[in-house]
Order: sequence, then C-alpha cells, then structure tokens
Amino acid sequence: MVLVVLIKKSNKIIVITLIALAVVIPITVPIFLLFNDNEITNINIELQFDGDTAYNYVADQININTTHYRIPGTQGREDCAQYFINKFQLIDPMISFTLHNFTVQSIGCQNVLFKMNENYSNILILGTHYDSRAKATKDSTNPDLPVPGANDGASGSAVLIELARVLYEKRHNLSVQIWFLFFDAEDQGYDFGIGLSGWDWCEGSSKFVQDIENFHNSSAETFDAMILLDMVGGDNLRFISETYSTSSLLDELFETGRQLGFTSAFPSYPTVNRIYDDHVAFVDYGIPSADLIIKFWDTPAEWPYHHTTGDDLSHISSTSLEITGKTVEQFIYNNYYEGTNPFQGSFPWSGDLDLLDSELFIFVIIIIPIVGIAVVVLYLRSRSNKDIK
Ligand SMILES: [Zn+2]
Repeated sequence: MVLVVLIKKSNKIIVITLIALAVVIPITVPIFLLFNDNEITNINIELQFDGDTAYNYVADQININTTHYRIPGTQGREDCAQYFINKFQLIDPMISFTLHNFTVQSIGCQNVLFKMNENYSNILILGTHYDSRAKATKDSTNPDLPVPGANDGASGSAVLIELARVLYEKRHNLSVQIWFLFFDAEDQGYDFGIGLSGWDWCEGSSKFVQDIENFHNSSAETFDAMILLDMVGGDNLRFISETYSTSSLLDELFETGRQLGFTSAFPSYPTVNRIYDDHVAFVDYGIPSADLIIKFWDTPAEWPYHHTTGDDLSHISSTSLEITGKTVEQFIYNNYYEGTNPFQGSFPWSGDLDLLDSELFIFVIIIIPIVGIAVVVLYLRSRSNKDIK
C-alpha cells in the first residue's frame, strides 16, 4: 500500500531508486559473496595424524565394557575416563588434567579435561562426548539394548587422543593453549519418547560451561574457539553445515579439509541443519564454536547406524578418522604454528554472516525481484492512467 501511495504521488526519485535496488541487489549480492568467499591456503607442513592408531583407540573404548559400554553411572564409563588419563599420561606424564564431577538424576557423571601448553593465555578447545547411549532407540529389533557407540562417542574421543599425541610433538611451535575435553552425559535424551528418565541431551557440556570459570583464569585467559567432533569415524564420512556453529569457523574447517583433498567429506554443497550438540553451550557463552557432524537422521541416512546396536566397530573407517584428524591438525598449524608465512584465516572467527546458508537470504533474493517487478508494473500503470487523463 505504501508503494502505491508513493507512486500515486508520482515520486519518481523513490520509484527509480526502488527499481534500481531491485535490479542491482540481486546482481551484486551473489558477486559480493563470490569474492568474499574465504580465500585460505593451508600452510605447507607434514601432517602426522594416523587413522589406524585412532581406529585402535575406538576399539579400545568398545572393549572397555561390552555389556554396558560407557553408559553414565556404569563401571564402563568410569573405566573409560581412566583410559583417557592413562593415554594422556603416556603422551606426557606431567600433563595437567581435571575431573569435573556433576550429577544428573542423582547419577554421578564426569567430564575429563586435559590441558596442553598452559603457558599461553589464548585457549582452543577440542571437544567430544565419550558416553554411549543407554537405549538403541532407533533399533527396530532391540531398542532396549545399549548402543556400543563406536561412532557416537568413541570416534571423536579417539581422534582427540591421537591429536594430543601429534600436537604434543609440535607443542613448542604452537602459540596456543589446547584443551582436550571429553564430555559425559551427552547422549541420553529422548528419542521417539525413549531415553533415560529425566535426562536431557548435552548435560555434560552445559554443566561444564556453567562451571567454566572454575577451570581457567578469566582475568588472564581467553577462549579463541571450540571445535566439537561428533560421529567422525563412520563409513562414507560427509560433514554437514551445522547452523548453531559459528559459520566463519566451520567454513574455515571445510576449506582446510577440501584443500587437503577431502572434497567428499567436506562437500561444496553440504546438507544444512541445526543440531543441538555439545557446542551450543559454548556458542551461548560467546566462544566461536563449530560442530563437525554427519547427516545421521532420516532414511536413508548417510550413516544409518545412529542409535542402533549396529553402531559398532564394523562400521568405523580409519580413513574417516584420519580425514577428521588431519583436517583439525592442519587447522591448528594454519592458525598457530609459529615461524611460518602469515596465514590468512578467519581468526578471530567473529563473522557469522553465512548468507548462502541462510533461509532469510534465499527469501530476500526471491522477494526483491518480485517487489521490483511489482513496482515497475504499478509505476507504468500509474503513468498510463495519467496519459488517459
Ligand atoms: Zn547420539
């Protein structure tokens, strides 16, 4: 209506401006996005992450307890925390670690945090959950059995251990403090109405962020970013564009992986979805965070064993583990390896303007030409009306 009134007043300047915008914006915005696309170049450095070693760490976690796996409140979960401590102490006997105890529905739970390069005040968090799901809610035959959690839990944890080994070797050249953070109690929420009674998803990470001031010196230390790994070891690895994530950080991880040749795992046009995962509490706290996760829902899912008893070692790929590990390793060297050429990444990953992923952007792109055409038609009609007079 406003437009019609304006046109009736024959305010030519406004009309011409609107027409110009209607034509110019749909042309210039895609060009801007094209040229604004992150131009990063991986630094030239040999990557050490080994997928077969990480695969063995997945197998170790599965075999810790083959009855209850790593369900919160079980001996298997406790033994798995001790397994991480043993592994990290093999890497560095003096490594600093913290056990973060909390309860959910009176069950004792425990996040496990290891810190490397504590002399640096800027912190990069690498996170994963390590609990396995109590109920195989998507299993058509055995929905009450526990999930082994080879991919959903153990894969991200395995990658973190192997990353700790390779990053420790280069720690003197890395200008960042790195946290390796294993969350308990991520995976017990309700799926199709079945879960542990009274439990939500991501209990461990939300409790951790509630207490985060206890784990660092907030007057001297700052958080650069958080990278979450969830289901990173299955066959046919193909990451999605997860939209709770800080897009500049996730985009940089995608670009880093693609430059390593992992174009199938980091597709140009990934599935887009919003997944409530352990990174959300960190995003809400103000830390740029990204979730590397796959399309695990719908039929056919790209990896169809999510929350079934089939989430076992037979559907784990050492190649997928290596793709994930090497991409994160390269990302860390790109941003923090001293003495290399200046790297132009997206640090400090404050940009979250990923218009191509945005439904709003698509809406605007469609609506502008429609408005433009309507303006032109109305303008011409008002002119022809005048001519008749
Ligand atoms: Zn899960």
